[in-house]
Amino acid sequence: RGHHYDVLLDAPDEAAQSGTQDGRAGDTVLLCEVRGRLLLEKGRDTLVAVGDRVWVMPHGKGRGWIERIEERHSVLSRQQPGTTVPAEDVILANPDQALVVFAVAQPEPHLRMLDRFLVIAEANELPAIICANKIDLTGEAQARSLFQPYEEIGYRVIYASAVTRAGIDELRDLLLDRITVVTGPSGVGKSSLLNAIHPDLNLRTGDLRDFLDKGRHTTRAAQLFHLPFGRRTFVADTPGIRELGLYEIDPADLGFYFVDIKPFVNDCRYPNCTHDHEPGCAVRAAVEAGKIRRERYESYLRLLHGDE
Ligand code: GDP
Ligand code: ZN
Repeated sequence: RGHHYDVLLDAPDEAAQSGTQDGRAGDTVLLCEVRGRLLLEKGRDTLVAVGDRVWVMPHGKGRGWIERIEERHSVLSRQQPGTTVPAEDVILANPDQALVVFAVAQPEPHLRMLDRFLVIAEANELPAIICANKIDLTGEAQARSLFQPYEEIGYRVIYASAVTRAGIDELRDLLLDRITVVTGPSGVGKSSLLNAIHPDLNLRTGDLRDFLDKGRHTTRAAQLFHLPFGRRTFVADTPGIRELGLYEIDPADLGFYFVDIKPFVNDCRYPNCTHDHEPGCAVRAAVEAGKIRRERYESYLRLLHGDE
């Protein structure tokens, strides 16, 4: 009955306080407010976050009322997962996956940084897919040997090149109708890949770069960028995901977020084992036995000790 079911694109801090939000209805963007009854039920501050699925009643020119908010199926937040997170601590509601982009060269891949991104994804229960871009620079064989360790521990790796268009169809299929957190160091080709996926975007690279890199340093929330294929294809810019609260992860939990370390953590002699120096540590034994790659274990130790 005139209602639109759609995704909240943006929730600027100031507007969130006044109860005004940007929502989408069809292909138009509506400036929305949360309507009375919902406000009474929940209180306006902790109500909506970017990525929330909302029911909107359009009214007036380009305006709408948010009348219902669907339950979130996933959350990217600053807090430990599993707890109920108030909207103000939600970076992004309903993310489906994280695409972690690295270049095989220019810049040289910094795999410890990749491990850090993967931990953040695991801690938020977000499936992570790795994109190894710029394979035109090294050839596919060398690219594969570089990232094969990640395939061996279960990650999907997409080998791509924005220049030769290798892997572009695969990336497009991956993004289709999902909310994808696109992350990775700057200069690895995130904007170029998105342009290659959808050339008719008619956006200059600079627009996407602004969006992905400089986007929203002043606000704490993410912003969604709509890609015009499928029904609901969005990429999310998540400011500060690089600085995201690893320090909030309990040291005794960090091992759970390394998918290759996780299978061993329950075999340690001490339940609070940090897999560093404790006697009877099953993780260290697995490293010695060659069941966990030493580089990954070293990444683990660095994150445990808060080194960069
Ligand atoms: P972002 O900062 O991750 O968004 O990276 P950009 O998309 O801005 O790309 C950084 C630089 O890498 C630009 O000069 C691009 O032309 C270049 N680049 C992007 N993708 C590729 C690729 O697949 N191969 C090569 N050789 N260069 C690329
Ligand atoms: Zn241990």
